[in-house]
Amino acid sequence: MSRIAYVNGRYLPHQEAGIHIEDRGYQFADGVYEVCEVRHGHLIEERRHLDRLDRSLRELRIPAPMSRTALGLVLKEVVRRNGVINGSVYLQVTRGVARREHVFPAPDTPPSLVVTARRANPATQEATALHGVAVISVPENRWPRVDIKSLSLLPNVLAKQAAKEAGAREAWFVDTDGYVTEGASSNAWIVTRGGAIVTRPAEAGILRGITRTVVVEVAHELGYQLEERPFTLAEAREAAEAFITAASTLVMPVVTLDGSPIGAGHPGPVATALRQRFHDFAEVTA
Ligand code: PMP
Repeated sequence: MSRIAYVNGRYLPHQEAGIHIEDRGYQFADGVYEVCEVRHGHLIEERRHLDRLDRSLRELRIPAPMSRTALGLVLKEVVRRNGVINGSVYLQVTRGVARREHVFPAPDTPPSLVVTARRANPATQEATALHGVAVISVPENRWPRVDIKSLSLLPNVLAKQAAKEAGAREAWFVDTDGYVTEGASSNAWIVTRGGAIVTRPAEAGILRGITRTVVVEVAHELGYQLEERPFTLAEAREAAEAFITAASTLVMPVVTLDGSPIGAGHPGPVATALRQRFHDFAEVTA
């Protein structure tokens, strides 16, 4: 089945889908995005992803491209037209097309909307989770508004590439006080030797991950001790376990940090349990 992309009202073959060169997403990264998991053909946590999209748009004063109901239908249609059973759906909204000036364009400029979907192989992902992934640390160098899911991802791109070149899957940003903020495309977690799950509060310095929100619920339901507080890189090195969360990877165990093993150096029981139970708690769109 050939890939189809939704671009500003049209469903187009992926190869032919394009946006105008003066789209502000292209010129200024002036836009926001969301990535939502697709499982068994259904969107996972669509409501929270669209809530976060609304918030990102509001914070940047970009108008919504269409009603939430209409957007839900487009997401579903893109998933259907691409025959995605397991994978993800990506949506991007920009401030639209206008002559290149930094200041906002005329208020009646329509925002641009692009939606794509892609397949993932659950077996491959489970195999990765069984082994766990490597993480490196990099200095935090992003702007303070990382709570907005904006398209401006240059520091994240460079961090991810540094991770790849070091043979790792993810990079953790570390601030000047030694605290881990989050990953280049995930939230960061540790499990202390005392068995407490620790993750940074979502109030500052991180994106409020939707997977993170669900995992907090799962942790409570499974009776784990959960501490929402910042943790340092030094604390992470001494942790019993570590893991990352994102819609694309769910709960992914971290087994090495900057080349040194975390805990026993293989996925721990807490991360494994949270991963296994995740979909018992995540909301599914019919
Ligand atoms: N932080 C960053 C910087 C991210 O890019 C992502 C992935 N979108 C996350 C956290 C995790 O968010 P979510 O669980 O909503 O995918």
